[in-house]
Amino acid sequence: MTGNDSLFTRAKSAIPGGVDSPVRAYGSVGGTPRFYTSAVGPYMTDVEDTRYTDLVCSWGPALLGHAHPEVVAAVQEAAAKGLSFGAPTEAEVELAELVTARVPFCERVRLVSTGTEATMTAIRLARGATGRDLLVKFAGCYHGHSDSLLAEAGSGIATAGLPGSAGVPEAIAAQTLVLPYNDVDALEAVFAERGSDIAAVITEAAPANMGVVPPAPGFNAAIRELTAKHGALMILDEVLTGFRVGPAGWWGLEQAEVNAAGDSAASWTPDIVTFGKVVGGGMPLAALGGPAAIMDLLAPLGPVYQAGTLSGNPLATAAGIATLRLANDAVYAHVDRAAERIRGALGEALANAGVPYTINHAGSLFSVFFGDGPAADGVENYAEAKSQDVAAYGRFFHAMLDAGVALPPSCFEAWFLSAAHDEAALSHIEDAIREAVGAI
Ligand code: PMP
Repeated sequence: MTGNDSLFTRAKSAIPGGVDSPVRAYGSVGGTPRFYTSAVGPYMTDVEDTRYTDLVCSWGPALLGHAHPEVVAAVQEAAAKGLSFGAPTEAEVELAELVTARVPFCERVRLVSTGTEATMTAIRLARGATGRDLLVKFAGCYHGHSDSLLAEAGSGIATAGLPGSAGVPEAIAAQTLVLPYNDVDALEAVFAERGSDIAAVITEAAPANMGVVPPAPGFNAAIRELTAKHGALMILDEVLTGFRVGPAGWWGLEQAEVNAAGDSAASWTPDIVTFGKVVGGGMPLAALGGPAAIMDLLAPLGPVYQAGTLSGNPLATAAGIATLRLANDAVYAHVDRAAERIRGALGEALANAGVPYTINHAGSLFSVFFGDGPAADGVENYAEAKSQDVAAYGRFFHAMLDAGVALPPSCFEAWFLSAAHDEAALSHIEDAIREAVGAI
């Protein structure tokens, strides 16, 4: 069988950079990306037949582990009945209803194929609803690759150390204002100055594309309050966190805290929410949702246009429905415990080795920042995230890979666990961490 090196060489002559999404190229960690042939449970196997315990989970979707038998069976059953109809199906209704049941403010749900489409449509909807053009986003947040959202974006843009992307017209870039994350003063200032021109503030519910940088207590609520006060919409991007950190995403975790504190006045809802990854169970599917009064502005009812040949595709809806049905409280409890255990093992090994580090987490999502740059009491924004020792992560990444554990190939990404990470997988990761810290 072909090896990773020769396949990468071949890939580079057929595909730009040899990959179909930049972070897969190992740009900041160096070396040859692994080309995978199969993924089952917590494991991935590459073309050289090497098996890795996976901490990427396809960048989030594999909440139940790879190739969960019931999800695969649902997709196979759907495939046998037709791959794409380009017409309505009951499964679309069912998936939309499952989302609504978990996230009640989401009265209407529109299914699309990628997170990029979901956020792009959310922005158009916010502009259509308000008749305003300006968009506010936060540095280090990633919301997909549409023109308006690449300024100081996280994920692959952060990994490549770029300020944005070529090819975005200046006139479009000028409509996006970028603020530091977790900075209520900056948000207040921008609303004081341009409040009546701002259509929306878009934010990751809990950012996980500059490494994991949780919102400071009350930050999301402050966005809600300021947008409402100035007639702008709040777009909560839960593409990554939705149905992964809990049954109702990050929003659900914050509302649970509010309810536990008996402080119903502190509860809040965004105007538009976007989902992806877990909602499609590993198939190309994403969604946006919100109250009917806003969502019904979309075509065919309203003047804001959005469409898709493969939207609500039957294989993708089958995977999404099966995944959401299986993602019960026990699944979330398992993933939470597994994440806590690996965070603990990582912190202990790094402390023992005398390596300076910060571990941030938001629910079950977490990441490590190496070096003395990031504040020990937690990284709070993109500037702090960028002060980490990127090269140290590269050394750690490769030592882990040599020990059979596949971490995200960038320090600006989250680590993902799944319900399939059992005792064998978790203890393998712990052993690998103890071995790999020496390489840092
Ligand atoms: N929003 C967030 C928060 C994301 O993490 C991502 C992808 N990592 C996107 C949007 C874009 O989703 P997609 O890659 O499916 O276009």
